[in-house]
Amino acid sequence: MKKQLIKRVQRLPKGMCLFGVIGLALLFIGCGKVGEKPSITQEPLPYKMDALKPYISDQTMRVHYGKHYTGYVDKANQLLKGGAFEDKTAEEIIVLTAGKEEHTAIFNNVAQAWNHAFFWKCLKPDGGKVDGKLADLIIKSFGSFDTFKQNFLEAAKSQFGSGWTWLVLDGEKLKIITTANADTPIAHGLKPLFTVDVWEHAYYLDYQNRRADFVNDVLDHLADWDFVAFQLKSTEK
Ligand code: MN
Repeated sequence: MKKQLIKRVQRLPKGMCLFGVIGLALLFIGCGKVGEKPSITQEPLPYKMDALKPYISDQTMRVHYGKHYTGYVDKANQLLKGGAFEDKTAEEIIVLTAGKEEHTAIFNNVAQAWNHAFFWKCLKPDGGKVDGKLADLIIKSFGSFDTFKQNFLEAAKSQFGSGWTWLVLDGEKLKIITTANADTPIAHGLKPLFTVDVWEHAYYLDYQNRRADFVNDVLDHLADWDFVAFQLKSTEK
């Protein structure tokens, strides 16, 4: 009995020691993770995966947000880890790597991560309604909202292969541009206000080859013009 008690007392410090070591290790790992903040953060989707139905299905969103977008964010962070751009913002990295052959992979993945994060915010369920100052500026820039819509659709259709269609601020007026692959207006010093992803992965499951129908539905039902107005307001001095 006495012997057993001694044994237990002898075991106790060892056990405590083990817990202590595990505790310290966990603390260390925890601190390490805080210190290793990824350069490019994955933006949460501002609505549910099925919120954009029937115009964009949850199946499309699961693949588009969950696989393609996540893939760009993960790849960007892998490429940036330990490199010269690690502490820079996505916008800074895009400007610093644009057009530089040696940084093509970083540019492509960081720009795609940025473009997608922006694109999710351009959409909302029950969107498509524009008013106020923004509606006036659209009319001033394009003649009418309908002309803006037709021009935007034409631009989206004419983008050969993968890319993006954008509404940007060019001086005092609005302008529609397209960019190929991962390219983005911020690489060209332009202020993006709104975008539609026209890579096939954005619409193929729901629309197959009918890209214009997809863009038309986005403009009529999903475009978050409040977000666009907020982007525009952020440019005012
Ligand atoms: Mn995409």
